[in-house]
Amino acid sequence: MSIFKPTWMVERIYDLSADDLKNNGVEAVLTDLDNTLIAWNNPDGTQELLDWFDMMRTAGIKVIVVSNNNHHRVQLAVEKFGLPFESRALKPLTFGINKAIKHYQLDRKGVIMVGDQLITDMVSANMAEVRGVLVKPLVGSDAWNTRINRFLEQFIKIILKRKYPELKWNRGLKNNGSN
Ligand SMILES: [Mg+2]
Repeated sequence: MSIFKPTWMVERIYDLSADDLKNNGVEAVLTDLDNTLIAWNNPDGTQELLDWFDMMRTAGIKVIVVSNNNHHRVQLAVEKFGLPFESRALKPLTFGINKAIKHYQLDRKGVIMVGDQLITDMVSANMAEVRGVLVKPLVGSDAWNTRINRFLEQFIKIILKRKYPELKWNRGLKNNGSN
C-alpha cells in the first residue's frame, strides 16, 4: 500500500505556503494539471491560484506542470500562466517527473509532486522517490477513465486510512511529513 501513500494531504494546492515549503526543503513543485491546478469549468484558474503562483515566484520556488495530457493540450492550458511543463508524463510511471528533474536540474530531495489522484500522481511520486502531496479534486466530474480510477481510489483510500491513521487532510505541511 505504501506505493499509494502521499507524504502529505492538503485540500488545495494553494494551501502550500512558501514558508511551509521552504521549511521542508522544497525548491520545486511538480504539479498535475487537471483538477489539481485548474478545473474544466474554470480554465483561467481562481484568484487564489494566481496569488499562489505569485507567492511561489517571489519565494523562488519553481512550479512545473507534469501532465499525462498531450503537448498541445497542456501548452494551451498553461501558457497563460507562463508555467513550464512536461506533457505525456505517463503517470503512474516516472517519465514526466524524471524529465522535469533532468530538464531543470532539480535535486530530487527538494522536489514534491502534487496531484489529485493516488493511482497516477502519488504512485509516480513514490516510484520516482520524491515526496507526494495529495489534493482534493477541484470539481467532482471527470472524464470516463478518471471516473474508473476514482472508483478504485475509494477502496485504496479506505485501506490507506486503516494502515496509516495519521494520514489526514491538513491546511499545510505541519505534520506527518515523514515517509
Ligand atoms: Mg488530475
